[in-house]
Amino acid sequence: MTATQAPPVARQGIGDRVAAVLPVLREHARRVDADATFPTAPLDALRHSGLMGLLVPTAHGGLGGGLDDLVRVAAELSGECLSTGMIWAMHCQQVAALAVHAGPELRADLLPRLAAGQVYVASVTSEKVKGGHLLSAHAPLRREGDRVHLERDAPIVTGGSNADGFLITMKDSDTAQPADVSLVYADRAQLTVRHAEGFSWDPMGMRGTHSGPLQLSGVVPESAIVGGAGGFREVALRTFVPVGHIAWASCWLGAARGALRAVLELVRSPAGRKQFDLDSDLLRARLARVRLDLDTTAALIAQVVRDTGLAPDPEAPDVQLRLNGLKVHAAERSFAVVDALVEVVGLRHGYLRDAPLPLERMFRDLRSASLNYANDRLLGANGALVLVDRGVGLAL
Ligand SMILES: Cc1cc2nc3c(=O)[nH]c(=O)nc-3n(C[C@H](O)[C@H](O)[C@H](O)COP(=O)(O)OP(=O)(O)OC[C@H]3O[C@@H](n4cnc5c(N)ncnc54)[C@H](O)[C@@H]3O)c2cc1C
Repeated sequence: MTATQAPPVARQGIGDRVAAVLPVLREHARRVDADATFPTAPLDALRHSGLMGLLVPTAHGGLGGGLDDLVRVAAELSGECLSTGMIWAMHCQQVAALAVHAGPELRADLLPRLAAGQVYVASVTSEKVKGGHLLSAHAPLRREGDRVHLERDAPIVTGGSNADGFLITMKDSDTAQPADVSLVYADRAQLTVRHAEGFSWDPMGMRGTHSGPLQLSGVVPESAIVGGAGGFREVALRTFVPVGHIAWASCWLGAARGALRAVLELVRSPAGRKQFDLDSDLLRARLARVRLDLDTTAALIAQVVRDTGLAPDPEAPDVQLRLNGLKVHAAERSFAVVDALVEVVGLRHGYLRDAPLPLERMFRDLRSASLNYANDRLLGANGALVLVDRGVGLAL
C-alpha cells in the first residue's frame, strides 16, 4: 500500500482515523466560530471515522479504546477546533456511562448504533433551579407501568439541536429527594424537543458547540434508566465525573498545545526570525513557563487516568482531590498559556481576529473552561477534602 492509499476505515488504527478527520476540523474551525454554527461537516467526518464509537467495546462493534486513547484523540481534535473537540469528548463521556452502566436491553440496542456513528449523544445535567450542581435534580420522573415520563428544562445543551440522543439527569420520582437522581437515556425520536422562544446562541467563545436551551418531554421504557433507579451518584463517581474531567482537561490542554505549536511555527519561520529575537531572555522565560504549564497538566491527566483505572474507592479524598483539581488546573493553566502566547507574539498575530494564528479564538474559547462546571464549586469541595486528608496523600 502506498502512502497516498489510506486503509479501509474498518481496518484503520486510531491514529489513522484521527489523521483523516483533522483536515476537516481545520477547514471549518474559523467558520463555525464566526457564524456560531454547529460543526456539521466535522461531526459527519467523526461519524464516518469510527471515532464516535472509540469507547464502545469491540464486542458491540466499537473501537474498544481506553482512557489513554480518549486523552490523545481529544487533545488532537481540540488543537484544531476546541468546539468540535468538546462536542466529541462530551459524547464520549456519555458513551462511557452507557457502556459501563446501561442494562443489557439498552446496551444491546444502543451500543452498536453508537459504534456505527449513527447516534451522537448530548448531555443534560444543568437545570434552571439548581444551576450546575451535578448530583441533584428537580424535574421528576413519573411512572406508568413500565414506562417513565419525563419533562425537563435544559438551559444549556452542547449540540442539542443536532443530537440523536440525550442522557438526562432527573429526580427519580415526585416524592424523591433532589439527591435521588436517575440518569435516563432517550433517543431523539422518543422526545419532543423544543427550543425556547426567541432562542439565540451568541456567546464569547465555544461558539461552535451551539449549546442553546431546550425543553425536552417524552416517554421511555424503565430499561432506559442507566445505573438503576436513583443510581446516578454511583454512575457519576465511577464513570461520568472521571471521564468528564479527563476528557475536558485533554481538550483544553490540546487547544493550548495547538496554540504553542502555531506560535513556534511562526517564530521559527524565516519571517518570524526577523521579527522575534529568539535569544531574548524574556521570550525564552515566557515560552518555558508555557511549556511547564502544558507538561504539568499532561502529568496530572496521566495520574488521574491511573487513579481512575486503579481506585477501588472513587470517594477516597486524595483521588477526589486530584480529580477535581485536574479540572480546575487544566481550565486555569490552558487559558493562561494562550494568554501568555498572546504576549509573546503581540497584537498583530495574537489579538486581531483575522490573524492567521488562531490565538484570539482560542483565548475566547478557553475563557469558558473555568465556567464549564464552575471552578469555584470544585474548589469549595476540594477545600473541605483537604481538611479531611490529614495525611496529605500525594501521588508519590
Ligand atoms: C461551553 C459550555 C457548554 C456546556 N454544555 C453543557 C451541556 O451540554 N449540558 C449541560 O447540562 N450543561 C452544559 N454546560 C453548563 C455547565 O456544565 C455548568 O453547569 C454551567 O456553566 C454552570 O452555570 P452557572 O455558572 O450558571 O451555575 P453554577 O455552577 O451553579 O454557578 C453559579 C455561580 O455560583 C458560583 N458557585 C457555584 N457553586 C459554588 C460554590 N460551592 N462555592 C462558591 N461559588 C459557587 C459559581 O462560581 C458561579 O459564579 C455548558 C457550559 C459551557 C460554558
